[in-house]
Amino acid sequence: MIQITMPLNFLGSMYRNIRQSIVDMEDMFFLLEQPAEIVDAPDAKPLRVTGGTVTLDHVEFAYDPARSILHGVDLEVPAGRTLAIVGHSGSGKSTIGRLLFRFYDVTGGRLMIDGQDIREVTQDSLHAAIGVVPQDTVLFNDTIRYNIGYGRDGASYEEIVEAAKKAKIHDFIMGLPEGYETQVGERGLKLSGGEKQRVGIARTLLKDPPILLLDEATSALDTQTERGILGALKLAGEGRTVITIAHRLSTIADSDEIVVLDAGHVVERGTHDQLLKAGGKYAAMWAAQAEDRDAAAA
Ligand code: ATP
Repeated sequence: MIQITMPLNFLGSMYRNIRQSIVDMEDMFFLLEQPAEIVDAPDAKPLRVTGGTVTLDHVEFAYDPARSILHGVDLEVPAGRTLAIVGHSGSGKSTIGRLLFRFYDVTGGRLMIDGQDIREVTQDSLHAAIGVVPQDTVLFNDTIRYNIGYGRDGASYEEIVEAAKKAKIHDFIMGLPEGYETQVGERGLKLSGGEKQRVGIARTLLKDPPILLLDEATSALDTQTERGILGALKLAGEGRTVITIAHRLSTIADSDEIVVLDAGHVVERGTHDQLLKAGGKYAAMWAAQAEDRDAAAA
């Protein structure tokens, strides 16, 4: 019996590892980078999430020692609050997401979750605590049920439906020829950008992480779709710590805090109203995007 169960156990854990790699692969797409080889510390412990407070304490980072990317970034996102990071292309927004995921280690300062330095916890537990809704959700050539369900191993059909309802994609799925059993992906039904993103939201809801990292799509969805997605994301973020890497300011105006990154420095921080009053970079970006908003509303 032992002889039979041993290989089966091994296969089971291999299968889980592969599945985890797929989820991580998706996270990697979000991060758009090949992660460096980071290994767990020999005495790494599982992260103990007590609320999901994220702290960047004087974080310095360089991909290449010759060129610093982040300079003494201090941020704190209290448990259950929302932070948006804005700034011009190349200012370092996505880099912060990559560091939180520990695809790279900070070169100075520290990054903590609930007071624990993320270099001192296991990567499995770190990744389990953070859900990513990427710009472009990867679909597998399988059923829509599978595509949502792999957000969490062993999720029941009812839980999948529940997540789809919250992501506001259930009605769409019920209208498909074979409902949740419809094949999607390259060799099946092709979903629109907005539908794919809802699948990504449903997956993340199943994973149920205390911390959400949202990478806002750069490509504009039509206003109607965008509003729907925003509503679903808002719901998904309830009761979680949410960090949004934002491109369109209209979508993050109600964040608890907004920080403006400029060449790796935090140059402004506050609420939308405070930043508009301050009349600095955020206000200028807001004014520059006003034309686009007017055009979209027309
Ligand atoms: P965007 O709004 O265009 O997505 P961003 O603010 O997210 O930009 P990052 O992707 O964080 O910017 O990049 C910050 C800087 O780091 C850029 O100058 C970029 O060229 C550089 N960079 C990113 N990845 C690497 C890498 N793997 N190796 C070297 N430099 C990199």
